[in-house]
Amino acid sequence: MPEWPDLHVLAGAFNERLPGLTIAGAKVFNPIVLRIPVEGALEELVAGKVLGSTDHRGKYLLFHLNGGSTGPDDPAWTGAQLPVWSDTQPPDPAGAQLVVNPMLAGTFQYCPAGEKKPPRTCLAIHLDNGYDLRYIDEKQMGKVYYLPEPGYIRIIPGFAGLGPEANLAAVSAGEFVKKVRARHSDIRNLLTDQEFLAGIGNAYADEILFCARIHPKRPAHSLSTEEADRVYRTIKELFAEAEVEIKSHLAKDLRGKVRHFFKVRGREGELCPVCGTKIVRRTHGLNEMNFCPGCQPAPAGHLY
Ligand SMILES: [Zn+2]
Repeated sequence: MPEWPDLHVLAGAFNERLPGLTIAGAKVFNPIVLRIPVEGALEELVAGKVLGSTDHRGKYLLFHLNGGSTGPDDPAWTGAQLPVWSDTQPPDPAGAQLVVNPMLAGTFQYCPAGEKKPPRTCLAIHLDNGYDLRYIDEKQMGKVYYLPEPGYIRIIPGFAGLGPEANLAAVSAGEFVKKVRARHSDIRNLLTDQEFLAGIGNAYADEILFCARIHPKRPAHSLSTEEADRVYRTIKELFAEAEVEIKSHLAKDLRGKVRHFFKVRGREGELCPVCGTKIVRRTHGLNEMNFCPGCQPAPAGHLY
């Protein structure tokens, strides 16, 4: 599942490639992922639109389409918020958007249109530079929303309730510590609660808690100020490190996940790089979690 660092790097990569390109057409191979709140087929709705910047919000990727705009001099562009990577193609405040929630298995591919289509490709956006922007989803659980204008964002379930971005750029250490220590859910559930922080899933929750040396089942309110502060700093450090790793290992066509630098996630049975204890896997609600019983001691009453 792509999480905050993955989508952050992807948005940056798209901002280096897409702004200014015109959509020549589109092909839908599997409409099950599509959500279009207006009349018309995706192919007709997007044809002729110009790609602006790409943003992300939590686990959603937002492609801004500047319908009819021709460039930064267009008055419709003024006042738009500039994304991190692009200073040339800000979103048209009245423009359409494609918003993608990749869920468990959605991936993107940016490649020459003639390149063989991967199995489970759901849709391809044809661009005027001869490239395709494809959305592939092996589980077909992701969603691709076409929003005719930004106000339609409210049709996306859960979007309005998203918490602050998970990189904590807008959350101070003091605020974070206070919020964590006021909650009764276990710390892992809290970190993956999108209303608490937007963008952390199972993989990064495991990595954060390992690096912060906190057992995933610890009730959030049982964390000391020092421990909660450690989680805060770990998130910032881990995301900064992840961004560098993901950027430097990103595939040319932008497909795939970069996870080689993970220390516990997916590493059950391997030895902890810090203390040498075997990393374990346990079920956690409907999910599975990995942690090191040596570095992350269990809270009272828990066997692991
Ligand atoms: Zn360990």
